[in-house]
Amino acid sequence: MKFGGTSVGDSAAFERVCRIVAEQIENQPVVVTSAMTKVTDALLNAFYLAGKNEPETAFESLAPHFARHLEVAEHFLSDEAKKSFYSEIEKSKRELGEILDRVSRRSLPVQLLKDVIVAYGELLASRLLTEVLRSKNINARFADARRLIVTDDEHGAANPIWEETEKIVRLELGSIIERGEVPVLGGFIAASRGGETTTLGRGGSDYSAALVGAALKAREIQIWTDVTGVLTTDPRICPEARTLKTLSYEEAAELAYFGAKVLHPKTIQPAVDWQIPVRVCNSHEPEMRGTMILPSSQSTPRKVKSIAYKKGITILHITSARMLGAYGFMSAIFQIFERHRTVVDVVTTSEVSVSLTLDNTASLEAVVKDLRRIGTVEIEPQQAVVCVVGSGLRDTSGVAAQIFAAISDINISLISHGASSVNMTFVVQENVVNEVIKRLHGEFFSEN
Ligand code: ASP
Ligand code: MG
Repeated sequence: MKFGGTSVGDSAAFERVCRIVAEQIENQPVVVTSAMTKVTDALLNAFYLAGKNEPETAFESLAPHFARHLEVAEHFLSDEAKKSFYSEIEKSKRELGEILDRVSRRSLPVQLLKDVIVAYGELLASRLLTEVLRSKNINARFADARRLIVTDDEHGAANPIWEETEKIVRLELGSIIERGEVPVLGGFIAASRGGETTTLGRGGSDYSAALVGAALKAREIQIWTDVTGVLTTDPRICPEARTLKTLSYEEAAELAYFGAKVLHPKTIQPAVDWQIPVRVCNSHEPEMRGTMILPSSQSTPRKVKSIAYKKGITILHITSARMLGAYGFMSAIFQIFERHRTVVDVVTTSEVSVSLTLDNTASLEAVVKDLRRIGTVEIEPQQAVVCVVGSGLRDTSGVAAQIFAAISDINISLISHGASSVNMTFVVQENVVNEVIKRLHGEFFSEN
C-alpha cells in the first residue's frame, strides 16, 4: 500500500491512512509512504539555496515543514512516543544544517549531498507514520528503505539492481511480516552498493512500491492518491467523466504522458514483469474500488477507454526535397534533438517532410537554427495533443471514422495511429481542444 504525499499531508490525512491500513490488516500489508506534500520541493529548494551560498536561509526555509511533522506527532502520539519522535526531528535538523553547510562549501560531490538532503522527506514521513499507526494499535515496524533497495550510483535517478533488492526485501520484510507486523518504509529512497543514499527520481515512491510488491510477489500493489483511479477523461471539461474499472498496462503507459495522475510506465515495470495488478485508489474515498491496472488479457476490452489531452504543444514541420529516397535523414534530424536534449513526442512523416511535436520549447530557437541547415522549418505554437486510448483501437474497424466524424468541422494538423495498438493521437489547435474532448466523450461514453 503506497501513500502519496497528499495522502500524508496533515493529521486528517494520517487518520485516513490508519483507517485504510486497519481495514486491510488481514491481507498482511506493507506500507510505503512518500514525503508529506511539498516537503521534497522544500528540501530541493533548500539544497539550491545552500548552493547559492545561503545555508542559513536554506535551513530556515525548512522550519515550517519540521513544524508540520511535529503537529501530526502532537495530534496522535503518547508522551513517550512524542519524545522519541521529537528527538528524531532534532537530530535530523542538526544533520541537515551540517549537510547544507557542506553544500555551500562544496565539500563532497553535490549530487550525493542532494540525495542525502531530499531523503529526509521520506525518512521522517515513514518514521512518523510508523508511530502514528502504532498509536492506533497497528503493529507497525519501521524499515529503512536505504537498506532494502539497492541501486547503481546514478544519484537523483538511480536504477535499482533487481536481484539484490529482491533478495533483501524478501528476507528483511518477509521476516517482519511473518512476525505479524506491518513494515513501513519510505518510498523514493535507496542506497548504492557502497551504502551511499540514492533516490529513484521524482515521483519515485510508486517505483519503490512496485519493487517491493514484485519482490514479495504481492497479490496487489495499491497506489493511494487523491484522485479516484483513472477517468474516462478530464472531469474539469466533462463533469460526467467516470472512473475506469480496469486498464491494461499498455493503456496506462500511453496515458502516463498526459499527467502525473497516471503512473509513469517505468515505475510500474516491476509489476508488469511479475504480472502483479496495480490498483489506483483515492484515500478520500477508500470504499470506491478505484482503477485496476492489469495484463491486457485480464482487463476488460473496450474500443475506447479514455481520452486525454495536453495543451501548450508546439509542432515543427521540416521539409526537404533531399529526404526523398535518402538514408540517414531521420537520424540527422533526431541527432539535433538529442544534442539540445529536447524530447519529441508525436512524429509523422511523408516522403519529403517530417512533422513532430514538442512540449518543452526551452531550446526551440537553437533546435530550429540547426534544423534549417537540413530543410525548411515551419513552427506552429499553441497546439494540443489529443490521445484516444483503448485496447481495440487498431483492430476495430470504424473507430477512426467515428472519432473524426465527431469533429469533422475541426482542423487536425497531425495524426498518428498504429504505432501502438492501443492509441490514436492527433493534434488540434489549443483553443478548440475543450470542444474536441466534450464531443468525443459524448460520442464514446454517453449512456444512450
Ligand atoms: N517525494 C518524492 C517526490 O515528491 C517521491 C514521491 O512522492 O513519489 O518526487
Ligand atoms: Mg508523488
